[in-house]
Amino acid sequence: MRSILNRLLALVLPARCAACALEVTAPSVLCAPCAGSLVPGAGASCPGCGLVYLTPPAGGCDHRCGDCLRDPPPFYRARAAFAYGGALADAIARWKNAPDHTLGPGLARLMVAALADGGWSPPPGAVVVPVPSHRRQLRRRGFNPAGVSARAVARAFGLAWEPGALALQRPLPPSKGLNRKSRMRRVRGAYAAVQCGRIQGRPVVLVDDVMTTGATAREAARVILRAGAASCEVVVLARAPRG
Ligand SMILES: [Zn+2]
Ligand SMILES: [Zn+2]
Repeated sequence: MRSILNRLLALVLPARCAACALEVTAPSVLCAPCAGSLVPGAGASCPGCGLVYLTPPAGGCDHRCGDCLRDPPPFYRARAAFAYGGALADAIARWKNAPDHTLGPGLARLMVAALADGGWSPPPGAVVVPVPSHRRQLRRRGFNPAGVSARAVARAFGLAWEPGALALQRPLPPSKGLNRKSRMRRVRGAYAAVQCGRIQGRPVVLVDDVMTTGATAREAARVILRAGAASCEVVVLARAPRG
């Protein structure tokens, strides 16, 4: 009901920036100053997990972060479209928590444009798989943010799209405030590969909306590789940065 009302209102009301509510020209999801404040993930970042370095470290921009050196992730590379924070964090919060499904296409457009601008390209024959939501959350929110992002990546880069390849078997408790170790425990054993034939022997691009510590991506990638995927890499809309 609410989504029908939102759609009707969108036809008659001027579009607003998803972060600061300034009037924008559709289909922009952010106003020019907010869009200009985004930090691309293709800059100084860890090639292993996509961690964005806000202050480029001494010794080069593309070196692996401490977490990747100490405990290499199962996926072979990760790329964030943007660093999480500021206007993007506000827009993502509105998109996911309001929830406002009308922001999904605009955020997905920003994501694929940033990936293409940053030179990201998928391996040939790759299959795009989103990190799944639990059905209860899907019912409450009406959409899976990772699914919206993943479908946009598949379309923009001409890749196969397998939204049902991975399932979340139990609802996950909130992750806010948890450290890396607790986040790993939170997702351990939570995902299952359910359509193994669709990903067996193929490179998989695992897509999520936000990556914080990487615990979810590590667990999901582990399941994908165990199910027989040839390789797994991760692409996210936003990655928690490090100063
Ligand atoms: Zn704005
Ligand atoms: Zn890393």
